[in-house]
Amino acid sequence: MKGCVFDIQRFSIHDGPGIRTTVFLKGCPLNCKWCCNPESIDPSPELMFNPELCIGCGLCIEVCETGASSINGFNRSLCTGCGKCTDRCYAEAKYIKGRHMLPQEVLEEVIKDVSFYKRTNGGVTFSGGEPLLQIDFLEELLYLCQTKNLSTAIETCGYVPWKNFERIADLVEVFLFDIKSVDNIKHTEYTGVGCERIMENCERLAKIAKRIVIRVPVIPEFNNNLDDLSKIVRFAEKIGVKEVNFLPYHRLAEGKYSFMGLEYWNPGVNRLDDSSVKEIIDKIGTFIKLKVGG
Ligand code: SF4
Ligand code: SF4
Repeated sequence: MKGCVFDIQRFSIHDGPGIRTTVFLKGCPLNCKWCCNPESIDPSPELMFNPELCIGCGLCIEVCETGASSINGFNRSLCTGCGKCTDRCYAEAKYIKGRHMLPQEVLEEVIKDVSFYKRTNGGVTFSGGEPLLQIDFLEELLYLCQTKNLSTAIETCGYVPWKNFERIADLVEVFLFDIKSVDNIKHTEYTGVGCERIMENCERLAKIAKRIVIRVPVIPEFNNNLDDLSKIVRFAEKIGVKEVNFLPYHRLAEGKYSFMGLEYWNPGVNRLDDSSVKEIIDKIGTFIKLKVGG
């Protein structure tokens, strides 16, 4: 079966051990205010528009059957993502993010860098979006990777049915499991869903996974303080996870929001630097390994 992939990034060094290829699957059950992949949330291919490339020729308007297309962008609520305007946009100002691929086609891409994986203990990381939402496609991909002896990692937000984890746990070398907060009210306010199911899945996965690294996006206004980060570390200790990575907030995704006709969340700071996050985590007394960065 085909899955919807929105990017394949080669030579990634922040998505698990060694040099990796990261495959980004479309569709996410969360809607985090700070999301750095806003193009990942919708499960289907969707239109993007870069105004800097637009030459104002108007060809995209002629072919649009819904009236969504305009010279200055497009109306998201009218756009079906059919892609007709992108075929006419020679300036490549309009383009579709996301394409349906067969597992074999993805494998052909990731296999290209196998010599780098071998030299660095790297491999393939499936990210998103939430890769476990496309569980049939993901499972087939993981089996294919296994046939080629490729090491695999999964980046997950954890908000999927438990049975999806059960299906693939044996096929994955390392889970990079996002825990954003252990405060249900706060989690709901900033991500659109509560954290109870996520924590329960993480706890159950810790019993059967080969390795889990908890990853914490550190976000101003949300969890950038000793109390919130300590609670996450205590949770990791309780369930037996031995590594927690803290990822400081950045604004690299800001441009993508304008390409999608969306407004970027503004917490009133540019970015967090590593040292300010390290200052907080140095105050957390623990026996488990804490690190700033992925
Ligand atoms: S993708 Fe299709 S519906 Fe959307 S603006 Fe382009 S032509 Fe119109
Ligand atoms: S076809 Fe492309 S370059 Fe021409 S108006 Fe539309 S978006 Fe701009």
